[in-house]
Amino acid sequence: MDNDFYDFIIIGAGLAGLASAALLAKDGYRVKVLEAHTASGGCASYFKRKNFTFDVGATTLSGLGEGQPLKILLEKLNINLESLKFQKKNLAMRIFQDGTEINRYANFDLWIDELSKHFCNSAEERNNMKLFWEKLYKIESDSWKLLESNSNLLPATVADYLSFLKPKRILKNLNAIKYIPSLFRSLKKLLVEYKLEQNSKFIEFLDEQLIISTQSYVDKSPELMSALGLTYASELYYPYGGIHKLSLALENALENYGAEIQFKSEVTEIETIKMNREKIFFIKDKQDREYLSNYVISNIPLWNMVNLCSGKTRDFFKSYANKFEYNTSAFALYFAVETEEDFDELNYFQIICPELIPNCSAKSFFVTLSPKDDHEKAIPGWRSVTISTHTDANFWLNLDSETYKKKKNETQNYIFDQLFANIPSLREAEKEFISSSSSKSFEFFTRRKSGLVGGIPHSTDYNILDLMPKKVPGEKLFMVGDTVFPGQGLVATAYSALSLRETLKLNGVD
Ligand SMILES: Cc1cc2nc3c(=O)[nH]c(=O)nc-3n(C[C@H](O)[C@H](O)[C@H](O)COP(=O)(O)OP(=O)(O)OC[C@H]3O[C@@H](n4cnc5c(N)ncnc54)[C@H](O)[C@@H]3O)c2cc1C
Repeated sequence: MDNDFYDFIIIGAGLAGLASAALLAKDGYRVKVLEAHTASGGCASYFKRKNFTFDVGATTLSGLGEGQPLKILLEKLNINLESLKFQKKNLAMRIFQDGTEINRYANFDLWIDELSKHFCNSAEERNNMKLFWEKLYKIESDSWKLLESNSNLLPATVADYLSFLKPKRILKNLNAIKYIPSLFRSLKKLLVEYKLEQNSKFIEFLDEQLIISTQSYVDKSPELMSALGLTYASELYYPYGGIHKLSLALENALENYGAEIQFKSEVTEIETIKMNREKIFFIKDKQDREYLSNYVISNIPLWNMVNLCSGKTRDFFKSYANKFEYNTSAFALYFAVETEEDFDELNYFQIICPELIPNCSAKSFFVTLSPKDDHEKAIPGWRSVTISTHTDANFWLNLDSETYKKKKNETQNYIFDQLFANIPSLREAEKEFISSSSSKSFEFFTRRKSGLVGGIPHSTDYNILDLMPKKVPGEKLFMVGDTVFPGQGLVATAYSALSLRETLKLNGVD
């Protein structure tokens, strides 16, 4: 038994767990983070091969603009943004569609010109295109304001609900009421409003952009989430050294504030016991270490929680696991490549293929190429590359080893073919450390059940209020991370930690 009694045990050192731990430690609580892996970061972690570093999943950063969640989080923790080498991209990404190259500029006017060039055939269409994007950007900026002034969405307690009526919030909240329908109607409705719904090439483009950010397509992705997902490229950053630099900064912050992390500690059991008439938590890990705490914050997916809890708490998680029975995972391909090419200083590309990628559930893949001068990721003259796409988790889980290898090669070869068809200079370039991962690998490295990554897709199929609340009713057990509001992505998980901290404050954990 770890002799110490903690105020908070945090399960998982993903971005949301680290952020929650650092915020609580800063406020003077005794906090311990238990992490199954040997490094933090979860889906935003890394691995090394000789002199190369590869991001395992996430590669892009956003949410660092004024009033946005990651910026607020870093400020609260006194983490100096300047000390982290995050480079804002003016040319955020290049999308290859049907033999054309679409440059996603951060600047609004340049972006509208680019869209007009590729997708509009008349002055009327160009005007509608501009109005459509103006609307998306308006929804986006109002959404950030709403999240900034209400850092405790979705409400989980009576105190959360009452807090929305605070005088300094109420005006902003009344202003936000007009966006409520945007949570329930799909982006398609907005396209109809701006007479763009018949533009099939543009719809295909939007579909493939949305699958990255909301994991849904135009006809299912809610308008509000679509607006956030389609505009994030205007505030996109490349993190030098790798995305895990953000986790490392959080790790340093939480340790500086006095919290501890126990690596190689895979939690297998969370029970409540009575001590001095108080209900407290008893937590056990795979290595038979035992911990006691007053509160538990879980940063692991809700599907994983079913097997760690018992009784009513288990039933609670089971009901959400059944409600959100998704099968979404990722296929990722990693390699180092020797090239002196500049690629217009681009680091992000999306390639839309003519058909579904073999053994996958999407027809596009996302490519991240480290910049020429990122020598933490690759030696001079070389680049580190991470490519990812969507796949069904179950497909990979029960294959015998020979079929598994064969299917992986099939997918890998197809992705390479499409990559070289669109960026021919990479075909002959020297490559090293080629490897790929599927749901099986994500299950092993992130411990996420069945390798289900990306959280719960945003969809009009369910009501946002149906999402799992961050507090388990009747328990001092809370959830953060991408399976609770606001869902997938590093910005969303940062918000979930900020939101939980606010809820705890409103409930007396000040
Ligand atoms: C291929 C891919 C590409 C992506 N690209 C982007 C992107 O470019 N930008 C972006 O913003 N987002 C991206 N995302 C999404 C983003 O990475 C995730 O939404 C986010 O990192 C999830 O963070 P989290 O804290 O919720 O959980 P996780 O990252 O899953 O962290 C959970 C942690 O808990 C640990 N753990 C699990 N079980 C246990 C246990 N029983 N005991 C102890 N520890 C445990 C895990 O090891 C892990 O460290 C991508 C995701 C994937 C998979």
